Amino acid sequence: MNKKIILADKSGFCFGVKRAVDITVDQKKSADAKLYTLGPLIHNNDVIHRLKEKGIDQIDEDDLETLEPKDTIIIRSHGVTLNVIGNIEKSGSKMVNATCPFVTKIQKIAEKYHDLGYQIIIVGDENHPEVVGINGWCNNSAIITKDGSNLSDLPAKVCVVAQTTERLFNFEKVVDIVSKKCEEVLTFNTICSATKERQESADEVSKQVDLMIVIGGKHSSNSKKLFDICRTNCENTIFIENSLELPTEAFDKEDVKTIGITAGASTPDWIIQDVIEKIK
Ligand code: SF4
Repeated sequence: MNKKIILADKSGFCFGVKRAVDITVDQKKSADAKLYTLGPLIHNNDVIHRLKEKGIDQIDEDDLETLEPKDTIIIRSHGVTLNVIGNIEKSGSKMVNATCPFVTKIQKIAEKYHDLGYQIIIVGDENHPEVVGINGWCNNSAIITKDGSNLSDLPAKVCVVAQTTERLFNFEKVVDIVSKKCEEVLTFNTICSATKERQESADEVSKQVDLMIVIGGKHSSNSKKLFDICRTNCENTIFIENSLELPTEAFDKEDVKTIGITAGASTPDWIIQDVIEKIK
């Protein structure tokens, strides 16, 4: 029986991730010295593997002192703290900053309003590198919250920003709590439209299908959020990293007539196409 496949309109590589990958590949073409990315460039093992094949390796923050002045280091789209930038500068190696411009904007907000005496509140995941990086622009003084439940003893002046991949519901919830507790509240909805578009598109498709497939890296927070959204609409939702993880028995079933597909912002087109081909 022919199955219908619906690919979410907005899925796969976002602007910032594509930009970071393009910058890295371009640098490799022009760099004759060693090229490193600071941590994994994106949350996608297949892409990391391909970069490695091109001779682009990863380096950890703890190993920055091993860099040689002739090496080049790429800062990924999530961005880093001011401290890390200082450490790279000390090493004397060339730094190429591929931080997504939307993340740079949040870093600048955190820096500016921290300097103006506001308590910075970040709505997001405290362990996510983007959030760790933003916090580093306000002297690691931000209060990080997911749902506002840890917000007590707040000062009079606060400034609220969001991790770019955060859900609007959480941001609004925190703004609501803070507005009742503080005298002066500045709010910046810094949720990226790429995230919102992917979430809305996944939501729409997952309401129409018998099986929903979310493609993304296991450590990709935006992919995990897509999975949560799809799962609410379609119990039969699976999360895979690439076509090798596709369980054929899931779409072989008679009652699975329509299959929806979406992919996180760190999933390249070739992986999405690979999955579609395998289903076909
Ligand atoms: S999701 Fe948005 S903020 Fe994050 S890298 Fe992509 S475009 Fe930039």
